[in-house]
Amino acid sequence: MSYDLVIIGAGPGGYTAANRAGQLGLRVACVEKDPTLGGTCLNVGCIPSKALLHSSELYEEAREGFAEQGVKLSGVELDLPAMMKRKAKVVTTLTRGIAGLFKKNAVEWVKGTARIAAPGRVAVTDPDGATRELETKAILIASGSVPIELPGLAFDGERIVDSTRALELDAPPNELVVVGAGAIGLELGSVWRRLGSKVTVVELTPGAVPGMDREMAKLLERALQKQGIKFLFESKVESAAVAGERVTLTVRGKDDATKELFADVLLVAVGRRAYPDLLGLADVGVETDARGRVVVDAHYATSVPGVYAVGDVIAGPMLAHKAEDEGVACVELIAGKAGHVNYDAIPVVVYTYPELASVGITEEQAKADGREVRIGRFPFAANARAKTMGRIEGSVKMIADAKTDRILGVHILGPQASDLIAEAAVAIEMGASSEDVARSTHAHPTLPEALKEAALAVDGRSLNM
Ligand SMILES: Cc1cc2nc3c(=O)[nH]c(=O)nc-3n(C[C@H](O)[C@H](O)[C@H](O)COP(=O)(O)OP(=O)(O)OC[C@H]3O[C@@H](n4cnc5c(N)ncnc54)[C@H](O)[C@@H]3O)c2cc1C
Repeated sequence: MSYDLVIIGAGPGGYTAANRAGQLGLRVACVEKDPTLGGTCLNVGCIPSKALLHSSELYEEAREGFAEQGVKLSGVELDLPAMMKRKAKVVTTLTRGIAGLFKKNAVEWVKGTARIAAPGRVAVTDPDGATRELETKAILIASGSVPIELPGLAFDGERIVDSTRALELDAPPNELVVVGAGAIGLELGSVWRRLGSKVTVVELTPGAVPGMDREMAKLLERALQKQGIKFLFESKVESAAVAGERVTLTVRGKDDATKELFADVLLVAVGRRAYPDLLGLADVGVETDARGRVVVDAHYATSVPGVYAVGDVIAGPMLAHKAEDEGVACVELIAGKAGHVNYDAIPVVVYTYPELASVGITEEQAKADGREVRIGRFPFAANARAKTMGRIEGSVKMIADAKTDRILGVHILGPQASDLIAEAAVAIEMGASSEDVARSTHAHPTLPEALKEAALAVDGRSLNM
């Protein structure tokens, strides 16, 4: 049997592309080496981390926040096995949901590890070791990424762990040291701090969440410090020695002095690397860059005709929604339609409390590009809904072009920033001006009113500050 499209990998890039291909009437197979569909995001990424963030936030609130709201609880206890069981159930429900969507869209789920034998031929080794070849008009690589391991800090799955293992610890560590102050490090650090761990984050650069707007990142750092997370910036873990249940770390700080830190668990969360490792790309001539990412053109085509790639395995932010939208665009282009991704309107979220969400350019980028901008800010402390919720930390920052007033970037630190950023992403996608948002009626009292107020503030006419 011959296919129109064989997709390698069933993460957000691969499974979304597969479903879209099915909708478009292509004969499509999706090869996945792991036992469940959904890839990193559903199995060991976005979904289990958000389940634990939600549960741990409720636990902390029940312990410390409810009394203030007039809700008295006694005997709040952590039942970590139940929390983990719930997380696993959420994951299973969603991964099974993908299998259901595959059926609905006539996508064939091929279980096994794929290698590109030649353009138009994918060799699959199934879990029992048997190999067969799939013939296809096009191949889409969506093989994703894996955690980066640092020299001298090899993962042992117990004391020195990656994000996957940090999602399933049996008990909160007394001392958790996190290497890397990116989204994953801060989210998992927050989970375990809420559940009782002392958390120290060691970061090479001068601040948390490098790449995000510095003013907002600084506010997030302060909020997390207030919660008890310690940061060591401009610091590097030089070595780690495991003895029994303890890891001793040598950390070199910005003054060039070294100091020792102790941890029962060391989480290395310094990013992920593209994972085309099992595909035999060199043998078929698919070009990769210096960081091992598959090189593609604007239509996701690789250097070999008929072979395409999307998601974490190519350049760009490693985000589930970026992978999904690329998967859809790539398949539409293969089918002769006009697929497109607007890379200026991809939101990025750090799901800490408060959440930090961002879309478009930062103030630093505007300066670096020599763009003249006007900036509006509005704090949640002046937003009525935030007050009723007792969640007033953070603010909204809107960056607009000084001449055209077009919105170039929006950065939100605050409650439900992950949801609020959607309005900003749509505004940027539609080419809206700050005036457009300022003149759109927002329901009262709601958190999105803070966005409207930031838009008004771009023109110096915020009404509630
Ligand atoms: C802890 C954590 C939290 C995260 N949280 C978020 C978040 O909140 N929001 C967000 O947007 N992103 C988040 N991410 C990132 C997100 O998970 C990735 O960006 C996303 O999963 C990338 O999708 P993908 O389809 O490109 O690759 P993946 O999801 O990595 O999927 C690739 C799939 O390909 C399979 N595969 C690889 N090689 C082969 C082969 N040779 N044969 C067959 N199958 C193969 C793999 O088994 C895997 O299932 C998080 C990641 C982590 C680790």
